[in-house]
Amino acid sequence: MSPQYDAVIVGAGFGGMGAAIALDRLGLSNLVILEREDDLGGTWHVNRYPGLAVDIASVTYSYSFEPNPHWSRLFAPGEELFRYAHHVADKYDLKRRMRFDTVVEGARWDENAHHWVVAIENSDPITARCLLTATGFLSQPHRPDIPGIDSFAGDVVHTTAWDAEFEPEGRRVGIIGTGATAVQLVPELAKRAEELTVYQRTPIWVVPKLDVPIPAAVQRLFARLPFTQWIARAVSTSILEAIMVSAVLHYRQAKFLNRAAALAARAHLRAQVRSRAVRSKLTPDYDFGCKRPTFSNHYFRVFNRPNVHLETNSIDHIEPDGIVTTDGHKTQIDSLVLATGFNLWDVNFPAIEIVGREGRNLGKWWRDNRFQAYEGVAVPHFPNFLTLSSPYSYSGLSYFTTIESQMKHMTRLLREARRRGSDTFEVTERANAEFLDRMTDNLDDSVFYRGSCQTSRSYYFNQHGEAAILRPTSTINAFREAGRFALDDYEFTPADTGPGDSWTRS
Ligand code: NAP
Repeated sequence: MSPQYDAVIVGAGFGGMGAAIALDRLGLSNLVILEREDDLGGTWHVNRYPGLAVDIASVTYSYSFEPNPHWSRLFAPGEELFRYAHHVADKYDLKRRMRFDTVVEGARWDENAHHWVVAIENSDPITARCLLTATGFLSQPHRPDIPGIDSFAGDVVHTTAWDAEFEPEGRRVGIIGTGATAVQLVPELAKRAEELTVYQRTPIWVVPKLDVPIPAAVQRLFARLPFTQWIARAVSTSILEAIMVSAVLHYRQAKFLNRAAALAARAHLRAQVRSRAVRSKLTPDYDFGCKRPTFSNHYFRVFNRPNVHLETNSIDHIEPDGIVTTDGHKTQIDSLVLATGFNLWDVNFPAIEIVGREGRNLGKWWRDNRFQAYEGVAVPHFPNFLTLSSPYSYSGLSYFTTIESQMKHMTRLLREARRRGSDTFEVTERANAEFLDRMTDNLDDSVFYRGSCQTSRSYYFNQHGEAAILRPTSTINAFREAGRFALDDYEFTPADTGPGDSWTRS
């Protein structure tokens, strides 16, 4: 029996939309995009806290084939990213194929029918020739299990579920967490709250953000002469690439560059915070890059304000009206903000249950073995499956680099499957093992294994102690391999129906 769709894509963020655009270009337009939220945009729909902005320059943090000449700033605010996502969905005719409020419970490969059966909460299952998961890396919010947290009597707001009605004015606010999200939110809360206590467990490296408005004349130039924006993109992408490749991935060879980045962050801190004691508390004791560093011109300075307090004693428990630290001190608060990030390794890899050939359960297999995915997209025993938010897939610092190299990989792969008249493709054990070995070898030069990361509590590391999210190669290498990987790294099974007939041509 033919499946209902050529492809099911799980996730209507930028990753899922990129995958849909790549499939459309191949003529595989009989697809559906399933999204658990009530709108598209992924992280840019879910995160709406004050101060939200991109921290990779917008000319780079966008699809190369869909430049937006009208970014208002070098680092656009979150709502512009959300509008851009809608613009892309409209322009590429994706919305009519999206189903919102649709929770995918799991997917199972049907070995007889050669298709995926996707189970959906409160709805009939659907079938598709291919399954693509674009569920993101930071999509399962982490709510800390601190004793007494449920007894707190005031508002509790997680940054991924921001309450637009929440007014910090005149309130004593406590915020837990000092990751990239808190770095954006804390300055906004500090302006409005009567008292703000920031609970820091691990300090974060923060470097200055060279953020300026993009003048209307430059926006017009970008619109009239798109190559000028392309040049701006090339410059910004090259800077990020240089930071990533030299300071993080080639730490062993270029330790001095890593040290220089840390020095720049320390100088930034010194210039912004008056108190030596506070500066000391805000200084990380792990190497730059072990944990994702961030950019801000406003974060450090708030700690000079009389209404802002930095608390570095561990939280012992929470009471209905305050937070008690392990030194016995209680800070009374009216509202609690959780900037506590996301759970990646326990619930996100994969975000749904996926069962492949011979009953192999992806999540269990990854945990029992090692987290792995050939070229960050394919796994043996999982035919016609592309996992876009997977181990070793995140290439470079901008997510769009990852998305576009994956689009390139799937284009080469699916074109070949159709050319051969195959109805299934599956990466070989050999190719997967070789890729994993190569990534493991490459990581040996990185700050993750050569630097001092023990105290970083970084989500880059999984429960096996492996830094298995980032692809430890340059993005140039990722793009090159996406367009040139050996086709015999995959096994293609001929369709019973004759060449090409198994794929819908729309
Ligand atoms: P995060 O980096 O994981 O930070 C979570 C924070 O909560 C950490 O400081 C963590 O402390 C703290 N925390 C968690 N549980 C805790 C507990 N039980 N007690 C005390 N503290 C606790 O999450 P995030 O700040 O949301 O950022 C996640 C990622 O989102 C970033 O790395 C970045 O990739 C992305 N992001 C991007 C942008 C952008 O502009 N593009 C903006 C925001 C976020 P420990 O460090 O000690 O665990």
